[in-house]
Amino acid sequence: MPKVVLITGASRGIGRATAKLLGAQGWSIGINFMQNEAAAHEAVAEVRQAGGDAFPIRGDAADESDVLAMFDAVESTFGRVDALVNNAGIVAPSMPLADMSIARLKKIFDVNILGAYLCAREAARRMSKGRGGHGGVIVNVSSIASRLGSPHEYVDYAGSKGAIDTMTIGLAKELGQEGVRVNAVRPGLIDTEIHASGGRPDRAAMLGAQSPLGRPGTADEVAETIVWLLSDAASYVTGALLDVGGGR
Ligand code: NAD
Repeated sequence: MPKVVLITGASRGIGRATAKLLGAQGWSIGINFMQNEAAAHEAVAEVRQAGGDAFPIRGDAADESDVLAMFDAVESTFGRVDALVNNAGIVAPSMPLADMSIARLKKIFDVNILGAYLCAREAARRMSKGRGGHGGVIVNVSSIASRLGSPHEYVDYAGSKGAIDTMTIGLAKELGQEGVRVNAVRPGLIDTEIHASGGRPDRAAMLGAQSPLGRPGTADEVAETIVWLLSDAASYVTGALLDVGGGR
């Protein structure tokens, strides 16, 4: 029976690369997107071409009723849900905390923390053996910013990812006996479109060159680690915060 995963924010970047790799392993995938429906359909086509199955699900990963509907759609389409990749995330333009508005802070924490908690909560409800589930896996997409702090740029984003790391540790302990493994990947400077929305499209190239490996990473390189954490090859790995940061 194919394994079933919901990936949030999967129409581009790391989420889309993860979907494609899982497709090649025969997974069935709910491709969550918020706005770019055309890109979500492209991601679905890539998964199918790779050998898996997929369908697009519109929804805001930070909205409670959307999150419930997303999980319902995956279960009604594929009959079960075995895994969640909590990938949706945002940054805002680079600036010191003293200049950040309350609207910006609320938006960052809403999407990056509240959204991740809501999706993990729904996964816990449906996967926990004590609640009638059959176990599962959660992979949270954090960032090396959680330990670097991103001063003068994105201390809000860095703090939100710190919360994801702490959630990962807590949920790994809370859900271990429920048959659910919970881990995080912490990407470094990865060449995706998120840097453009942070107002610095060249950020990954510029700072990636200063990392020990001398270049930015690719979405595929992060996806490889996520796919491994989702797999049975990682069956004794839980509560891990795995850096995929080129040594940065
Ligand atoms: P990306 O911007 O290409 O992908 C993020 C996706 O999330 C986008 O498709 C976006 O539309 C979606 N999204 C945002 N808010 C959403 C919401 N409320 N509901 C549903 N979808 C939403 O960037 P990416 O680099 O692929 O980012 C994926 C994850 O990796 C993010 O959590 C990001 O913080 C993390 N990350 C990226 C880097 C990097 O250098 N690219 C580094 C560290 C961590």
